Amino acid sequence: MNNSIAEILQKSAFDKTDIVALLSAKAPEDGNKIKRRAHDILIDQCGPAVHCRGLVEFSNHCVNDCRYCGIRKSNPAVHRYFLSKDELLSAALFCAEAGYGSIVLQSGERRDEPFIAFVEDAVAAIKRETVSARLPRGLGVTLCVGEQTEETYKRFFAAGAHRYLLRIETTSPALFAAIHPASQTITTRMECLGSLKRAGFQVGTGVMIGLPGQTVEDLADDILFFRSGDIDMIGMGPYIPHNQTPMASIEPAFVKNKAFELALRMISVCRIVCRDVNIASTTALQALEPDGRELGLEAGANIIMPQATPAGVRRHYLLYEGKPCLDESAGQCRSCIEQRIKSIGREIAADGWGDSRHFRNWGKIASTTI
Ligand code: SAH
Repeated sequence: MNNSIAEILQKSAFDKTDIVALLSAKAPEDGNKIKRRAHDILIDQCGPAVHCRGLVEFSNHCVNDCRYCGIRKSNPAVHRYFLSKDELLSAALFCAEAGYGSIVLQSGERRDEPFIAFVEDAVAAIKRETVSARLPRGLGVTLCVGEQTEETYKRFFAAGAHRYLLRIETTSPALFAAIHPASQTITTRMECLGSLKRAGFQVGTGVMIGLPGQTVEDLADDILFFRSGDIDMIGMGPYIPHNQTPMASIEPAFVKNKAFELALRMISVCRIVCRDVNIASTTALQALEPDGRELGLEAGANIIMPQATPAGVRRHYLLYEGKPCLDESAGQCRSCIEQRIKSIGREIAADGWGDSRHFRNWGKIASTTI
């Protein structure tokens, strides 16, 4: 006989059947139990504070052709941009002044030496220029610039970045192959995650939820991978079609409402299974629902990434349709985020990098939180 949701929630280790049951539970009282359990674990393991990472999308040039992504190299409608080092530095200074402890530098993918040297140089400059009494070691820098060689990851780490986000997108080899061109493989993606760990990074990964053909079993495998792969940070969001991509004409696995609800449930179940990791409430949630990011925090997330990309170029970094906050200034995003976090009875963490407890708890580092 299958265990009830209440029985599953009593466990401390979960198998695939448990996770599928948690992801598919439909009764509202079961949904509430799952959410409550996720909340309790969050408070116990990470505390109530929400950590902010200012998000700077510094370039949309990309050598990849991911079949779902609006800035893929074969989309001729995209106006390509690349911020200068000064523009990047002023965005970073804004983040430091706004009280964000960390910054995420994200871009389309390039692997040429000028790009690598630019990132290296920009990271070093940001670390140097943002040292203050409040941030004695400068802003925490998270990179999200895709697949690179281990050598490159080591250079980025030596420059001062200490966290890296690289989504696996899906752990199903067949689904990964269906949404990427043959030149991009799940094996390379997995190898990159290993290289990042060896380079010393706190490693974040994640998946899209509701990809065409994706099943709840696939998502359960994804969560088991986060656990067995010793992942420190998780960033997930609903898949949202972009009409200038090859996948736009294929029906997503879940209709909008269901994808949104499932994305929230994924956050809760990841919190229950992976416990002490950092989990981001991503912008894609807000693209589907105006209060999507607050609901993500209530479902068990503890990280939020306010927009800090200069407003002039934000609309050119459209991975999917309906991206929110296109016209606000970075300052407006700061006060909006603060109000949103307060509205759900949580507060922004005072200073610090807000590192993954998982990374510390497992002895990978003595202490990086300041
Ligand atoms: N090039 C970098 C970062 C940019 S893309 C990298 O590969 O890491 C960041 C994330 O946006 C991707 O990992 C993907 O999960 C997500 N994304 C891209 N297109 C999307 C879409 N149509 N819907 C939802 N998320 C999308």
